[in-house]
Amino acid sequence: MKKVTIIGSGFSGLSAASFMAKAGAKVTVLEKNSTTGGRARSYTEQGFMFDMGPSWYWMPDVFERFFAHFGKHPSDYYELVRLDPGFQMIFSENDIMQIPASLEGIYEVFESIEKGSADKLKLFLEEGAFKYKAGMQHLVHQPAYSWLEFAKYDIIRDASRLHMFKSVRDYVSKFFKDERLVALMEFPVLFLGATAKEIPALYSLMNYSALSQGTWYPMKGMAEIIKGMEALAVSLGVEFVAGCEAKKVEITGSKAINIKTNKGTYNIDGVIASGDYHHIEQHLLDMQYRNYSEKYWDKRVLAPSSLIFYVGVNKRIQKLIHHNLFFDASLNIHAHEIYHDPKWPNDPLFYVCCPSKTDASVAPEGMENLFILIPIAPGLSDTNEIREHYFKVVIERMEKVCGEQIMEHIVYKKSYCKNDFVNDYHAYKGNAYGLANTLRQTAVLKPTLRNKKVKNMFYAGQLTVPGPGVPPALISGQIAAEQLLLHLK
Ligand SMILES: Cc1cc2nc3c(=O)[nH]c(=O)nc-3n(C[C@H](O)[C@H](O)[C@H](O)COP(=O)(O)OP(=O)(O)OC[C@H]3O[C@@H](n4cnc5c(N)ncnc54)[C@H](O)[C@@H]3O)c2cc1C
Repeated sequence: MKKVTIIGSGFSGLSAASFMAKAGAKVTVLEKNSTTGGRARSYTEQGFMFDMGPSWYWMPDVFERFFAHFGKHPSDYYELVRLDPGFQMIFSENDIMQIPASLEGIYEVFESIEKGSADKLKLFLEEGAFKYKAGMQHLVHQPAYSWLEFAKYDIIRDASRLHMFKSVRDYVSKFFKDERLVALMEFPVLFLGATAKEIPALYSLMNYSALSQGTWYPMKGMAEIIKGMEALAVSLGVEFVAGCEAKKVEITGSKAINIKTNKGTYNIDGVIASGDYHHIEQHLLDMQYRNYSEKYWDKRVLAPSSLIFYVGVNKRIQKLIHHNLFFDASLNIHAHEIYHDPKWPNDPLFYVCCPSKTDASVAPEGMENLFILIPIAPGLSDTNEIREHYFKVVIERMEKVCGEQIMEHIVYKKSYCKNDFVNDYHAYKGNAYGLANTLRQTAVLKPTLRNKKVKNMFYAGQLTVPGPGVPPALISGQIAAEQLLLHLK
């Protein structure tokens, strides 16, 4: 039985672990933190259960396909509900746009804002469906060693319909003029780590997922997905070692033979490193075994970091729904301060997740559970004073929009920012979401999934292919496992 070690227990590591175990390997997952899940960990305090990272459940088919590989379905592990409305965008206290679950409802919202836009949306979503099928069902499943891999798909003959060389900004502006509709169509790509001007319009496939497939929520929180994936892995024989930090990959010739950790040495036939790529290369490998230099990393465009607040409030807040995007400030100015002139934002946009609107189990009765996130440039200085300043800013903005007192009802609060990303995950420059999905950092142009010098070492996770986000992380773990299996045959 081949012995395989997975470094890291985020979504990509959990995925890789199950694929390796199903293929018959003896799999051990090493996780430096005390709990599994990586950026998707959760914690409970004073009766509030906080998901620490992801909160948007999009692309439900990717989760279904993952579990189907093991003869399972998401419903074997968690109960999904479709949110209706899916989310709301707040432009001011009197201008709030709610996005219903049904497409008919969404067409009505569009038409009420801009005449003729419902028909345009239909066309936009048809093109989005084509891109989604091409992108998420075919293209993302390649290891991306060479562009030739993509040539085998018929879909490539229709490559012009993928809009790789057009920006999301240009593409969206062909369809919609009203700036609220433009903001709605551009916001999903903010997750991909660059402005709509720099992201290829291929990624408008995310609008298709958001609007056509809908926004879902696993009851008891996103942590249930992690629990489900861990249970699946354990059922396949995977062993998890928490509080175990990989310190060094020992190599003989071109083969990794041992992983040295703070809890002893693991003798291995293969390794999948799903912790942050930069850290693994720079700290666990001797120079001659690294794919990339420090200079290479410094030139990468990273997705943003985030300032996050986990907050418990001892009353219900009427105007909030589950997902709330505060766009009551300039998107262009904030985006400029993240991507082009990195600094703490003057007047930030922010996002508030309030899962207690859907799920009574995440807060004590009559109370509200809030996750507040401000996207910020990676690598900024992170002090307590700065965090407190922004806490006041966002709570005051929420009070204005919601028309009620919030600050004096806060019974629990914890902040999380760049320094925590570095300490907890060894995140390069404190990034939250890995590398930006710009054209120059897509597929073959991303840090490669294989170690070119160590034949039995592969990488997985949001800094390699296919990119940031939970669904890509699941796929990344799968591809890395498939590649290691080919090598171990
Ligand atoms: C605040 C936030 C909000 C997000 N929101 C969404 C969302 O709504 N929807 C969505 O789809 N995506 C979202 N994302 C992105 C998504 O969560 C990530 O892309 C995904 O979870 C990354 O998984 P991963 O396996 O690549 O990495 P990680 O989750 O970072 O896992 C890597 C693991 O490796 C461990 N590790 C690192 N080094 C070592 C070592 N030397 N030894 C042992 N262990 C090590 C780390 O501790 C960590 O547990 C969000 C991310 C953040 C941070």
